[in-house]
Amino acid sequence: MPREAQVRAGPLNVVGGSFAGLMCGIALRELGHRVRILEKDEDERQSHMAGVCLGLDAKQFLSRYDRHTTSFTHTTTRIQVLKNDKTQMFFEVRRDITSWDTFYFRLRSCFDGYISSHNLSPPIKCENMELCSYESRKELLDIERVGGEDFGLELTVLNRETNVTEAIRADLVIGADGPSSFIRAKYSPGTERQYVGYVAWRGTVPENELSTATRETCNSSATVVRFHRHHCIMYMIPGANGSLKQGERLMNFLWYTNESAESLTEIMMDGVTGHVHHNIVPAGHVRKDVWAERLQRAKVDLSGPFLEVVLKIKRPFIQVITEFCSSKAVFEEGRVLLVGDSVSLIRPQ
Ligand SMILES: Cc1cc2nc3c(=O)[nH]c(=O)nc-3n(C[C@H](O)[C@H](O)[C@H](O)COP(=O)(O)OP(=O)(O)OC[C@H]3O[C@@H](n4cnc5c(N)ncnc54)[C@H](O)[C@@H]3O)c2cc1C
Repeated sequence: MPREAQVRAGPLNVVGGSFAGLMCGIALRELGHRVRILEKDEDERQSHMAGVCLGLDAKQFLSRYDRHTTSFTHTTTRIQVLKNDKTQMFFEVRRDITSWDTFYFRLRSCFDGYISSHNLSPPIKCENMELCSYESRKELLDIERVGGEDFGLELTVLNRETNVTEAIRADLVIGADGPSSFIRAKYSPGTERQYVGYVAWRGTVPENELSTATRETCNSSATVVRFHRHHCIMYMIPGANGSLKQGERLMNFLWYTNESAESLTEIMMDGVTGHVHHNIVPAGHVRKDVWAERLQRAKVDLSGPFLEVVLKIKRPFIQVITEFCSSKAVFEEGRVLLVGDSVSLIRPQ
């Protein structure tokens, strides 16, 4: 592929423009740095139909850097267990829950003021915002050390729009390129994602399609049902465009089941293309017979709100649970760092 002659120099470079990349980008910008995020995907990210619970660190981060005043989380006040069709308090805990896309667009707006269907108005002004750029459809292909003692880095980046590669000079590179990180594979080969023995059968159902009883039971709690070697959890997440209005939210459903490594070939086979996925069978691609069998099992194992919700899922998806932990997160004498899921992936319980 042709390479542009000109080599660009300047800002701190973050590879990957999802949660970890955006959070680093925002924090570095607030320290006065110029930041460039290189993201191989589009600006308008697809919803993962996933709930994201904000932990203490995320809340501290937002209390410092969030530049919007409207809420973007649904709050649950307890985790309850369903037993013999009755709910019992498991423990009281406040959880601020949002969805993957709502959180992405919030961070994105705080980083470079990006306007989206989730955030129609700009964030509260911040003078350093023009120091930042979010370059979507730019994929890192390689990193090389260049120069002698006072060395630097050269990134080879593919513009997926024009199919042209360019070389970018960098002093610091933050690898926020997720669990299948190119940067980790280059510097720490051998740290592979390991299957931990269970998968999550997942999907969402619009709140307004649920019975009043299920809505009321699950409105302000995360609800769990536990069995021998499998369990389900469900809770509300924001609906389309991050809506938190009652009636517009989604019920997020997850059913974790132990599955042998051999059975994954069948479970993970794409119903449209026949390709066997490693990590996720996306919505619309789960094999009909695989999901039908899952629903048969649901009719035996589940009851009450859980059975109602799983039977109403129209676009299920399947996620294989994997984990790893890189033994190192700092390379090239401190000039290449890994953050977020590129460093370690922790299994959900
Ligand atoms: C389907 C799905 C469901 C999930 N459900 C939940 C959930 O319910 N609750 C929860 O807490 N977490 C969930 N997660 C996990 C959560 O999304 C991650 O923990 C979080 O997104 C990690 O953020 P990250 O920025 O470290 O990595 P990622 O979000 O993986 O982002 C990595 C980014 O790097 C980009 N990238 C990769 N390689 C390159 C390259 N070479 N050049 C440029 N860009 C590159 C990718 O396009 C991506 O945008 C889910 C994840 C998925 C995929």
